Amino acid sequence: MKNTTLVNHPPAVEVPKDNRPLVAPIYQSVKFSFDDTDETLRYQRAERAGFFYSRTSNPTLAQLQGLLSKLQGRDDCLLTGSGVSTIAASLLALCKAGDHVLLFVESYGPTRYIVQRLLGKFGVAHTMLSIEDLPGIEQLLEEKPTRLAIFESPTNPVTKIADIEHLTSKARAAGCLTVLDNTFAGFHNHGQYDIDVYLHSLTKYASGHGDVMGGAIIGRHELIGAMRKDIGPMGPALDPHAAFLIQRGMRTYFLRYERQCANALIVSEFLQAHPRVKRVHYPGLSTHPQHALARRQMKDFGTVVSIELDGGFREGARFAESLELFSIAASVGSTESLVMPPQLLYSGEYTAEQRAQSLVGKGTVRLSIGLEDESDLNNDLAQALTKAFN
Ligand SMILES: *Cc1c(COP(=O)(O)O)cnc(C)c1O
Repeated sequence: MKNTTLVNHPPAVEVPKDNRPLVAPIYQSVKFSFDDTDETLRYQRAERAGFFYSRTSNPTLAQLQGLLSKLQGRDDCLLTGSGVSTIAASLLALCKAGDHVLLFVESYGPTRYIVQRLLGKFGVAHTMLSIEDLPGIEQLLEEKPTRLAIFESPTNPVTKIADIEHLTSKARAAGCLTVLDNTFAGFHNHGQYDIDVYLHSLTKYASGHGDVMGGAIIGRHELIGAMRKDIGPMGPALDPHAAFLIQRGMRTYFLRYERQCANALIVSEFLQAHPRVKRVHYPGLSTHPQHALARRQMKDFGTVVSIELDGGFREGARFAESLELFSIAASVGSTESLVMPPQLLYSGEYTAEQRAQSLVGKGTVRLSIGLEDESDLNNDLAQALTKAFN
């Protein structure tokens, strides 16, 4: 064998069956081979276990799929390369021309774009209500055949809480599927509800360190299996190396999430007492209008705190720029704290009524609380509030 051949056929290493690595290796291989054509055909007919092509299945992804579906209390999971691709792929797989979708004003921007623009192009109609409009939701589901409702809880950025029991029971009675983007609440929340599909951006709490992107679609096997048929050929695959990093991030998921929630409560109590802060949006505060609902639905209250400053764009930007421990950046769920000033939250596409429902105004600032010491965070917020109003 010449060296030019050898580099393409490196020596195989066999690990004995009774000799296991404690951390599963990264199967950074696109292709997997069987001994012969017959076994390959048996695999393709689903008559034997194995792997063939990593866009469809890969052992590193399989471990993460098993972990995430168990945590969410379901039995199947599909991984993709980003959170938004779970939204686009799920909606395309679940909807067809002539269907109607229930969407919410408080939904993540790209979700609204996908439903309004992308599905719209393919003849899927939608109605957009406020997540707080319980009578409107009930009436719509009773009167209008609706394929699915896609929603979030807590919502971004002002942490409204969806009444999940209300929504799922009305949807089930109407034959409408429910899709919950559960990114903010995490894998340990909302599993007890009658939700058909959970979506997660793994870029946030799962990876946890702000260095890798991914997405998960979780649900019961029959439904996810049917979706897999359509989503596979769309090809939004997660790379095995990214899956490995996310799997590693999951080892500290509960520690991080619990500590970040504890920090978020301390920070929100501090901000609530500050004279320059008109309102704090954090479901863990007893003053949050849906605190009781959040307490009933969730094991904790999340790591995102939004505030209404006693000022506008100018004070919001000065506040964000004066913070030393909070970086001005998108995303949530990293170990370091982040801030979004009002200019970056304020959406230009709402009608006046929708804007009022969104509760995002010119003084709204979103904070994503990290793992820093809580007194350092509060001291930093205090000095930045002083600078913002001087
Ligand atoms: C970030 C986020 C997404 C998108 O995830 P990416 O991994 O950034 O594509 C979707 N939904 C929610 C609620 C998010 O916060």
